[in-house]
Amino acid sequence: MRVRFPWPLPALALLAACSATKPAAVPASAILPAELASTLAATAETPGGTPSFENLHAALWTADAVEFRAVANQAYRLARLALDRALEDTSWTAALEQEAPFGAKPPAVVLDVDETVLDNMAYQARLILDRGTYDPATWAAWVEEAAAGAIPGALEFTRYAASRGVRVVYLTNRDAAGEAATRRNLEALGFPLTDDPDDVMTQNERPEWRASDKGPRRAWVAGRYRVVQLVGDNLGDFLSDRRADFAGRESLYAAHDDWWGERWIVLPNPQYGSWESAAFSNDFSLTPAQRTGRKLERIRLRAGR
Ligand SMILES: [Mg+2]
Repeated sequence: MRVRFPWPLPALALLAACSATKPAAVPASAILPAELASTLAATAETPGGTPSFENLHAALWTADAVEFRAVANQAYRLARLALDRALEDTSWTAALEQEAPFGAKPPAVVLDVDETVLDNMAYQARLILDRGTYDPATWAAWVEEAAAGAIPGALEFTRYAASRGVRVVYLTNRDAAGEAATRRNLEALGFPLTDDPDDVMTQNERPEWRASDKGPRRAWVAGRYRVVQLVGDNLGDFLSDRRADFAGRESLYAAHDDWWGERWIVLPNPQYGSWESAAFSNDFSLTPAQRTGRKLERIRLRAGR
């Protein structure tokens, strides 16, 4: 799920402040390429700016750590094993929206798109270098490029599912305006698609699909198929989380504990997601600085201070 959360931490301002009070510190310009050093300086000087350097470690890990590739492949290989069992057991469903009887329906797997099958690192990296923050216009332009890569393991898994006669459905909160480009991107990478336009289900594609809550769209798929697996990177890819706070998310997680790794396969996304806004109780009226303050309150709890 693509969510509209800026990354507001003035980490670079803090870094700059530290170097100002600690003369022995190595200046950033000495350890960063000139381009990044000037980015850092400009960000620190931007009042109220929302430096996306907050995402630096998460983006670097996702882009370049072999650990990310290993975790993603691990998730998809686990998914394949569970899929074999799911196909043999016609009482198995992965959708809370699935209504009986469903055992005779053809099987389908439902996958989220962003950071589940498509890798948008180029967009995230541009935000960091441009000191930008997510916004619908730059995101829509990126979607139209149809240049996202494939998340490790996703191609192999979806092709395997298709080879077993499983319909592969891509259920995304990308807007309907970007559906054709999304389909082009998936096709170019070799993801299985049929001629059915509802292989790709976008937000606003139908009047009843206006909500970011994917529940109505999962119900639509469950009306036609036995949904054997859900794959995603965000809690809302599995159930309707209704913008739960951290405690609510814990309850939702625990209520379906034995579905994870079996019916529900989750990919890691440390860059964005509903977990991030849960840190400030989904109060989008807060300023970036206030949101950062709420996040730091969570960290202080961990530090015992
Ligand atoms: Mg996603």
